[in-house]
Amino acid sequence: AKKFVFAKRFHGLPQHDNFSLEVEELPELKTGDILCEALYLSVDPYMRPYSLGWPLGTTMKGGQVAKVIDSKNDKFPIGSLLVGYLGWRTHTVINPDIKSKNFMEEITLLPELGQLCPSVGLGAVGMPGNSAYFGFLEICKPKPNDVVVVSGAAGAVGSLVGQIAKIKGCRVIGFAGTNDKVKWLEDELGFDRAFNYKECDLKSSLKEAAPNGVDCYFDNVGGPLSVAVRSHMNDFGRISVCGAISLYNDTTPTLVPCVEPAMVFKQLKMEGFLIHRWTGRFQEGMTQMSTWIQEGKIKIKETHTEGFENMPQAFIDMLKGGNTGKAIVKA
Ligand code: NDP
Repeated sequence: AKKFVFAKRFHGLPQHDNFSLEVEELPELKTGDILCEALYLSVDPYMRPYSLGWPLGTTMKGGQVAKVIDSKNDKFPIGSLLVGYLGWRTHTVINPDIKSKNFMEEITLLPELGQLCPSVGLGAVGMPGNSAYFGFLEICKPKPNDVVVVSGAAGAVGSLVGQIAKIKGCRVIGFAGTNDKVKWLEDELGFDRAFNYKECDLKSSLKEAAPNGVDCYFDNVGGPLSVAVRSHMNDFGRISVCGAISLYNDTTPTLVPCVEPAMVFKQLKMEGFLIHRWTGRFQEGMTQMSTWIQEGKIKIKETHTEGFENMPQAFIDMLKGGNTGKAIVKA
């Protein structure tokens, strides 16, 4: 078996020497244990900021969809597919009945997915899907005709938020980092307007696309783009802060202009969240997301990188914007 360990602390954008590929001896299976083989592995932005708390030598943490290839556990027979935070490893021996206090270590059988590729368990019908579903609906509480802005709009979470907002009858504006992504959002996902935040003038784009202001902002990126959006909010606007990826690799954090007067005079509500707030409702989110996908109301895209050895490259590429939709490694 092979695994990647966290070999050197990140400074700025991750590099290949932050990771080391190691061979791992696996133990014999005891009663209750299963041996699983990774099929699809997830690379996610949280791995960058969360690494601050990881000792060097830690196996890189992360989700995977795996197949049970040997089993001493009747609930997980050979051939079953599961999703769990097994880390950046090709094979794992684990007893899924031993419940960890850490939600990150939960192991569950993959739900029935019809024609969908099992990798959706790491994306639209998994943690990012639930982040979009609960993080947007519970915090922004969108109403029909609300104007919704999404940053990181062509990514795993953002692309779903925009489509959920359309289902709820909102007008949706997205910001993403390439012209191809902008085209995908407008032409295929039904966003009313999208902009390349690297090329557009933020203030005039917002004025043009939302002449009457913004009611809801789903923020994946933080930084100057978010300042511009928050400055363009309507009274009683709601802001769901999902992530701040524009700042994760900062080595010298920069100050951005403040928006406190707008927060007060427009009576805005801004709330951050971590997805495990809704752990008890994950089934609801996953069922709704997979229903919408199978009804054709939500379109999904994944960017697949082939080969377990390419985990670090896929992670770096994702942080640089190389993915459209969910970034996945096919083992
Ligand atoms: P994405 O699929 O959106 O991938 C990351 C994207 O971030 C890249 O494709 C890139 O797209 C964009 N990006 C990179 N650098 C910058 C920058 N400087 N400014 C703006 N955008 C940038 O990842 P996810 O959908 O998985 O995650 C999106 C956000 O949500 C992250 O901040 C993540 O930490 C957060 N998150 C939070 C959760 C929670 O529980 N709170 C759960 C899941 C995710 P582009 O080409 O557009 O620049």
